[in-house]
Amino acid sequence: MLNEKSVKPASIRKSAADIVLAVIRNHSPTARIDIAKNTGLSPATITSITADLLSKGLISEVAFDQAGGGAKRGRPRVGLKIRGAAHLVVGIKLADKSASVVIVDFDGEQVGQFFIATPSACQAPDAMVEFLTAILDLALEEAGLGRSDISAVGIGISGFVDVEAGIVRWSPSLNMHDVALQAALSGAMGMPIFLDNDTNLAARAEQRFGLGQNVRNFIVVSVEQGVGMGIVIDGKIYRGNRGAGAELGHTKVQLGGALCRCGQRGCLEAYVGDYALLREAGTVIGASQGAGPEQQMELLLQASEAGNKVACSILERAGRMFSMGLANVVNIFAPELIILSGSSMRLLCTQKVIGDTKKMCIQFGASQPDICIHDWGDLMWAMGAAAYAIDGVSEMTLREME
Ligand SMILES: [Zn+2]
Repeated sequence: MLNEKSVKPASIRKSAADIVLAVIRNHSPTARIDIAKNTGLSPATITSITADLLSKGLISEVAFDQAGGGAKRGRPRVGLKIRGAAHLVVGIKLADKSASVVIVDFDGEQVGQFFIATPSACQAPDAMVEFLTAILDLALEEAGLGRSDISAVGIGISGFVDVEAGIVRWSPSLNMHDVALQAALSGAMGMPIFLDNDTNLAARAEQRFGLGQNVRNFIVVSVEQGVGMGIVIDGKIYRGNRGAGAELGHTKVQLGGALCRCGQRGCLEAYVGDYALLREAGTVIGASQGAGPEQQMELLLQASEAGNKVACSILERAGRMFSMGLANVVNIFAPELIILSGSSMRLLCTQKVIGDTKKMCIQFGASQPDICIHDWGDLMWAMGAAAYAIDGVSEMTLREME
């Protein structure tokens, strides 16, 4: 509960407006009296803040349904909801093979989507800015919109992203270190840019739209080319210092082990990432060396299902390494829920892997976390990027109310 006496009036107003907007977003439509109960703020404060939010156009009033809303006869109760038309934002997920784009309104309703192949898995910063700007315009054109209709763009990229500084410290998608990508994109697109690590945005997507709704502590683990982790602690994304936390892929599972893309040895990613599996799978997929990584992964899976011993041993070892990595996560964070996502999950994450993980977790009276697989495909990441942009736009608008 917010302590109204211990903080300055302007801070109270901003923090309280933040909380009220979040409650309306999570419990839409909701009555003022229920917001007061939910937040512990006084009815007078709620009335004043919701008047501000209404005047800013961020929320709107709706009459509760007479039958379902519990309205008294002759005087319908009024609920508050997020006003979708307040803003449109764009979310973009950049992957090595493709980019996906969603356009959503302020209430999170999708109004457009767009997919395009990336010209190259690893690009120079200028080329990436040009590419992202071009796909923004293509997606908007297809939706019959222009840049002036959009309030902000959220972008997810793999690698180490210093969110505060807007700098990508390292990414497999960029051929340089320490790229000030946020400022470059903001200049090129002419609007605020919210840039984050892609798995943090997957966690945000789960929190806003998926399995993480109303879960205080959960972790998203993704396996594609690399291994990513998004941590939500007490409802907030945990990034660590320098934006380089949550690098599950680079935790060590073997002393002096396989070579990782980061240049070190024995990282989890060097055993379970797509590139690591394909590196081992040469003889299994030998006849299809010209195929793309996705088809090669499919061949590896098919060979394993057909009983090919090499394919089976590659996937079994990856599964053992993956369950070790997951058990370490559970033993450190003890989350309520672990959500496994990413295109390679169906190869790695069998019930055996989940069972082995639970065996390696510290055994005591408390229940083990739920571990579930949720693969939305690339749209999830883009929706997370859009949710980040919505939060950024909310924050900017509320700051004006101080
Ligand atoms: Zn590594």
